[in-house]
Amino acid sequence: MASDCSDLYIENAMISNPAKTGKPGEKKEFDRILHMPRPDFSGFEYSTILCIDKPNREFHPQGGSVIPGAFDLPEPDYDREGEVVEHEMPLVDDWFRVEVTDHDQLDSGVDLTGHEVVVAMGRGIGDDPTTGIELGVELTDCFEDAAMGLSRGVITSSYDFEGHVSQYITEERQIGESGQEVQPDVYVAVGISGAIQHKVGMDESDIIVSINTDPEADIREFSDYFVEGDLFEVLPPLIEALESGETDIATALEGPADD
Ligand SMILES: Cc1cc2nc3c(=O)[nH]c(=O)nc-3n(C[C@H](O)[C@H](O)[C@H](O)COP(=O)(O)OP(=O)(O)OC[C@H]3O[C@@H](n4cnc5c(N)ncnc54)[C@H](O)[C@@H]3O)c2cc1C
Repeated sequence: MASDCSDLYIENAMISNPAKTGKPGEKKEFDRILHMPRPDFSGFEYSTILCIDKPNREFHPQGGSVIPGAFDLPEPDYDREGEVVEHEMPLVDDWFRVEVTDHDQLDSGVDLTGHEVVVAMGRGIGDDPTTGIELGVELTDCFEDAAMGLSRGVITSSYDFEGHVSQYITEERQIGESGQEVQPDVYVAVGISGAIQHKVGMDESDIIVSINTDPEADIREFSDYFVEGDLFEVLPPLIEALESGETDIATALEGPADD
């Protein structure tokens, strides 16, 4: 589901032949329709997904999903109470007859939100993708509470990753408009150009550090610290310094963004 689901709402709606049922142009009135606006084409256009149920039924099961980080979690309000409405419903036995033909265990997923540090790897790893991801994992391990994310560029690339790192190359690690939105204390963007679709998923981070060979890379504009350099040269000594406790990230990155 798209990131901007804050507009989820339920209302009465008049829809003209929404699902191409009935006669063309025929108007049907539906009650309790869940409207779920979602951005398409990078937010240039909005579609509204409607959960439409058969109007002559007494119940309206509807559902939506949101990606991690799309909403701030509200504090629980234990004073709120829901209204319980009792209904007598003559339910047809057939509705409950389910035959399980197969089942699968869903992966628990990767939640990149809520960490102090997020290390994100981009297509800058292209010269040696396996080593690039290994360095990303090593850097992530230097922090107590960190997770590793990816730009979409890495996920859609046709890089040949060796087996032991290919487990990390999954869409659930994608950060950005069509991935997760993160706001860590420190965001380290490694070999990422800073496309708008990536930016919207990370630019609320407190401190943004980017490492890039291109001094003109867009990400520089919204980075607090910009390290101009090759990630394969910059990361090993940084990891070594962090691992040895010789330095912390703040010291390692000392100096203003434009240096
Ligand atoms: C509808 C839509 C939705 C999208 N959603 C997302 C999304 O959710 N998230 C997302 O990330 N993208 C998304 N994208 C893709 C996005 O537009 C970019 O294509 C993508 O973010 C680029 O990934 P990248 O920065 O890793 O790669 P590139 O743009 O190729 O950038 C690679 C960077 O690495 C640098 N570099 C190269 N070699 C090195 C090196 N050795 N050391 C250091 N730096 C190096 C280069 O200078 C360059 O800046 C979406 C696109 C569309 C159209």
